[in-house]
Amino acid sequence: MIYLDHNASAPLLPVARAVWLEAEDRYPGNPSSPHRLGARADTALDLARQRLAAVLGGSSHDLVFTSGATEAVTTVLHHVAGDADPAAVVWVSAIEHPAVIASGRAYFGPRVRLMPVSADGVVDLAWVSAQFAVERPALVAVMAANNETGVLQPWRALHERCAAAGVPFFCDATQWCGRLPSAGLGALDFVAGSAHKFGGPRGVGFLKCPARVTLRPLLHGGSQQAGRRAGTENVSGVLAMLAALEWCEAQLADGGLAARLIQRERFERDLLAALPAVRLTGAGQERLWNTVNVIMPELDCRQRWVVKLDKAGFAVSTGSACASGTEHPSHVLTAMGRSAAEAARALRFSGGWTTSEIEWNALLAALPRLHAELAQAAAVSGER
Ligand code: PLP
Repeated sequence: MIYLDHNASAPLLPVARAVWLEAEDRYPGNPSSPHRLGARADTALDLARQRLAAVLGGSSHDLVFTSGATEAVTTVLHHVAGDADPAAVVWVSAIEHPAVIASGRAYFGPRVRLMPVSADGVVDLAWVSAQFAVERPALVAVMAANNETGVLQPWRALHERCAAAGVPFFCDATQWCGRLPSAGLGALDFVAGSAHKFGGPRGVGFLKCPARVTLRPLLHGGSQQAGRRAGTENVSGVLAMLAALEWCEAQLADGGLAARLIQRERFERDLLAALPAVRLTGAGQERLWNTVNVIMPELDCRQRWVVKLDKAGFAVSTGSACASGTEHPSHVLTAMGRSAAEAARALRFSGGWTTSEIEWNALLAALPRLHAELAQAAAVSGER
């Protein structure tokens, strides 16, 4: 099976697996326990926090380990809602992951303002400037890179504007970390990340939140992580996450990005040449090197494509993993102005550092062949 669904979950990197296994033996103690094995685990966590701070920039005191991005995201909205005026609004981009939009709605109800995006899926900075003249939200939440389209968002410019307006800025960097350099993210007010998107284990992630802020914890219980997140820390998971992140950062430092971008561009060019009716999503924008989102030619429902590709040996997605299986058109594509019918024909191919050119080429060869089969089946059913 050729796995092209890394944006849903990336396979565990060998280096992360090795570190996880070793850590399970080396750190059997609870980091809160008073004995030496507890202290050993606690020290390992502190070092991991320092390593994460070195990747993101900023202070290790600002970092909280979580069970993943959903928990980190919900903690931010929970915290901001607890502190905010009861009439406060939050601005959330219309293309955020459901974790952000649903958390926003859970805590702020109708006081969630969806920020518009361009037809290419980029948050509208002009709207942001104009809207700051009208109101001061309690939070602005915009992701670093979109999980469905791979389109990069102007998070540095947004942070500058928010800082000038005295408004906290939250960036869900779940799809950015491990694919593009994470340096600079630590300067933002709140950041969420998740290990399983970049080759770490599932069920572990992080939240960046300034230590000077008295965070309202989402979970209640022990006083772990300076009272910011109750619950025994996942020591092996955290260490494996760091091993994966540092490995990805090393690929970037070794110049891996340029070759991957060329590979993606070649794939897109050859696909459009073979199937000219395919439409590339976010074509004119900077996008993640690993993600290709296309609207397939009008033929049949998207399920047929995914099922057909699955049978042909390719694991791909229609949109965000949480949305697949439901009949709703992607909120990301509809926010970009695509019709429900177009959004229903969207396919997302997402690889990783370990995906080979041979695998991308196999998909390239399969798509026109499967398209011809689907067209023939559609013609036959049309004749009936
Ligand atoms: N944010 C984005 C952009 C995502 O793509 C995802 C996962 O699909 C999440 C948040 C949720 O991450 P997790 O699975 O770690 O809870």
